[in-house]
Amino acid sequence: MTEPSIFTRILTGEIPGEIIAETDSLFALRDIAPQAPVHLLVIPKTQEYRSVVELAAGDPALLAELIAFAEKLAAEHTDDGDFRLVFNTGANAGQSVFHVHAHVLGGGLNERSVGA
Ligand code: 5GP
Repeated sequence: MTEPSIFTRILTGEIPGEIIAETDSLFALRDIAPQAPVHLLVIPKTQEYRSVVELAAGDPALLAELIAFAEKLAAEHTDDGDFRLVFNTGANAGQSVFHVHAHVLGGGLNERSVGA
């Protein structure tokens, strides 16, 4: 059996963490170490998918739901509704929790994004 991830442990109440919003299949937290004025994590309740690549292959409808939920949260938590969506994929790209999650960054991003 796979060990519960840190996010699953927050979801089940085993460790403290404020769930700021949820749907039947997703939940959102404020990142404990924010990298932007608004830094939320949007996470499927299932930890079946380790990465966004696995999620896209295994349940593309859930990935689409996750993106729509990210947009809704950005609209609620930022003045302008604009946001950056980041999926770190693999340890060498900065992924530390292997339970797929999107970082929703907004609220005044000063640095130029890749390609800008
Ligand atoms: P990753 O590095 O896997 O892309 O993102 C994991 C994120 O989870 C990090 O940005 C980290 O700050 C955040 N994180 C780790 N532990 C906790 C926690 O206990 N509570 C919350 N809210 N965020 C966490």
